[in-house]
Amino acid sequence: MSITSDVKQDTSNAAETAVQEEIRRSGYMTVARFMEQAISHYYANSRPFGVEGDFVTAPEVSQMFGEMIGAWMTDMWLQAGKPEHVHLVELGPGRGTLMADILRTINTWPDFRDAVSIHLVETSPLLRHEQAQALKGLAPTWYETLDQVPEGFSFIFANEFFDAQPIHQLIKHEGKWKERVVRLDDSGQGLVFGTADLTSIMLAVIPDDIRDAPEGSIFEISPASLAVMEKIARRIGSSGGAALLIDYGHSVAGIGDTLQAVHRHYYSDPLQNIGSSDVTAHVDFATLQQAALGKAMVHGPVTQGEFLTSLGIVMRAEALSKEGQRDDIVSALRRLVSPEGMGRLFKVMVLTPLGSNINPAGFVGGEN
Ligand code: SAH
Repeated sequence: MSITSDVKQDTSNAAETAVQEEIRRSGYMTVARFMEQAISHYYANSRPFGVEGDFVTAPEVSQMFGEMIGAWMTDMWLQAGKPEHVHLVELGPGRGTLMADILRTINTWPDFRDAVSIHLVETSPLLRHEQAQALKGLAPTWYETLDQVPEGFSFIFANEFFDAQPIHQLIKHEGKWKERVVRLDDSGQGLVFGTADLTSIMLAVIPDDIRDAPEGSIFEISPASLAVMEKIARRIGSSGGAALLIDYGHSVAGIGDTLQAVHRHYYSDPLQNIGSSDVTAHVDFATLQQAALGKAMVHGPVTQGEFLTSLGIVMRAEALSKEGQRDDIVSALRRLVSPEGMGRLFKVMVLTPLGSNINPAGFVGGEN
């Protein structure tokens, strides 16, 4: 994987121009619209992952991540009574590494391997191409949205998908709740944050206990994430299977500005390097959980560290170490499970059908 700075520069300019033109026409852009634009330009034109990209995700840290999830899925399939047809549905598969590692792991269960069909929800043509390379000969099918994926018993999974869904930011400004927006600065060339009046629908989503929050407080909500979550929950509830959602974020909703941009492994200003930095927000698991209630049973969230450890990642690391590259394996293990790495901030949530007696591994004591 290589990135030339020329390509990045072009992308960034095109994205910036598109954002500025839209703001010139409409006066401002909500943070959600800005994120949507920044992210679609970014994933359509960049190769974000790995040392030469902008960030490293868990499946790219080590094959152990996908292997644990493959083992977890095999256990779920056995508990479900070995259904003969299983859709493996991944949302936002990146480079296809996680799906490839899961499939390699389940090869040791031929009945399960024979039962699965592969469904990838991905909007970026560039990443679809990378996924096709990673999954050569495995006949995946691609979709723009989850709605297009055929119904049926499914294991739906997503790693770092929800953090890329647009959020609205509501801000307490001069004693009133406002929508946080992006505007042109006085020179007309740069971008700055500002405020605009809230629609009554947006005003209604502010929880009662934070209405009186102090000046400058920011409340975030992601209607796009909630809509996807409702669809996942409805599918699992009606067609069976399970959903496994992994992302960084918080288990309790509250006040805070979590909009962030990462460019070449460093945090950067979200209003700079548009189209060549990854703009994300923390995932609000509490609100996602509410969106699933009544449609599916929610397990967790538990931390990624708890989840992977209880699935036996330490034993797997020991076994792999005996085959060589001990230092690399130990450092990957640390990165995935330690609180200083991805172990605490990243959370894992699982959905199973209402009334199902399947016990997803890794959630001892974490069930709701
Ligand atoms: N799961 C991968 C990649 C995470 S990055 C990993 O862990 O390495 C986010 C991924 O979600 C990218 O593949 C991006 O193109 C995709 N994506 C983001 N928003 C999307 C949307 N609304 N619909 C489909 N794919 C989306």
